[in-house]
Amino acid sequence: MPELPEVETVARDLRPRIVGATIVGARCTWSRTLRTHSPEAFAAAVAGRRVEAVGRRAKLIVVDLSGGAALTIHLKMTGQLFVVPADTPVDPYVRLVLELADDRDVRFRDIRKFGKVGLYGRDPVTADLVTEAGGGAVFADLGPEPLDPAFTLRDFRRRLRRRSGRLKPLLLDQSFVAGVGNIYADEALWAARLHPLRHAASLRAPDERRLFEAIRSILSEAVERRGSSIDDYTAPDGDGSMQDRLQVYQRTGESCPRCGRPIKRIVIGARSTHFCSWCQRLSPADRADAKAILRTQTGGVVRRGRRWTELAGEGSLGLTVAETDRAAARRRTDRTKRAAATRRAAARDSGGSRA
Ligand SMILES: [Zn+2]
Repeated sequence: MPELPEVETVARDLRPRIVGATIVGARCTWSRTLRTHSPEAFAAAVAGRRVEAVGRRAKLIVVDLSGGAALTIHLKMTGQLFVVPADTPVDPYVRLVLELADDRDVRFRDIRKFGKVGLYGRDPVTADLVTEAGGGAVFADLGPEPLDPAFTLRDFRRRLRRRSGRLKPLLLDQSFVAGVGNIYADEALWAARLHPLRHAASLRAPDERRLFEAIRSILSEAVERRGSSIDDYTAPDGDGSMQDRLQVYQRTGESCPRCGRPIKRIVIGARSTHFCSWCQRLSPADRADAKAILRTQTGGVVRRGRRWTELAGEGSLGLTVAETDRAAARRRTDRTKRAAATRRAAARDSGGSRA
């Protein structure tokens, strides 16, 4: 699922294409894509409005329109945005089309249909997005933006110390910090050498600093590299390259780049979690109850990681760790290539990304 860097990339690619354009109509073929309006009401409400700005909050693209309105676009699992000439054939996965006055379409393509588009007003006093005058702010429950220069280590510490619970679910909690998802939570925890099951309350000051710095540096690098093109993610100007820089995410069984031991995968709160159990140790206090989670939820997977080491050690199948690594890397490369081919085909069907 696209996270902060991917959504930021889509927003940046869209901005020069649509700021200044006027929306003349909208067509929606999957009404549940619209969070706030019926297709008819939505089309009537956006027609005649000019696009004034394109930004991002957490994992949502925010398109400011004239007259104090704003669209929020949540890509969720498979959402993609393309800007194409209006006469480009529409592929069957396009759920929403914004028709622009200059004969171009903004097309929201979403295979799995989890994506959501909302239309809100801006409160004239607070500038918050609101569903109606005097209503609650749409983004009220979101935590701070981790890349905001105003977000400091002190803020991060203060927030951490108010929380209980384990680090992985905490990082995924959008009310803690906004925009971090499964990929960058795993990468940040590995970089900070913190076990995903560690309790937030057990962190010491240097741990907090490492985690803060890891989150910021990984997200910044990922924005620079236009995000990770894994699964269906692509942006109007094309794929990202951060997937090549990920150290643990979806690298189960490969060598940890720091210590060489196999990366493990466990499931925490129904989310895959990738880590190195050697570099990311649990404190004795956390180990006792985490053991139960590791055993009941994920014994099989954890054992697989261990078996590879044992096989390599015994040489029983004649496989070395390096060989299993290469096989895993090859499978991953194949998977990424297949996904990229699918994305390019989709972009072509939508009329290419260069319109
Ligand atoms: Zn390691």
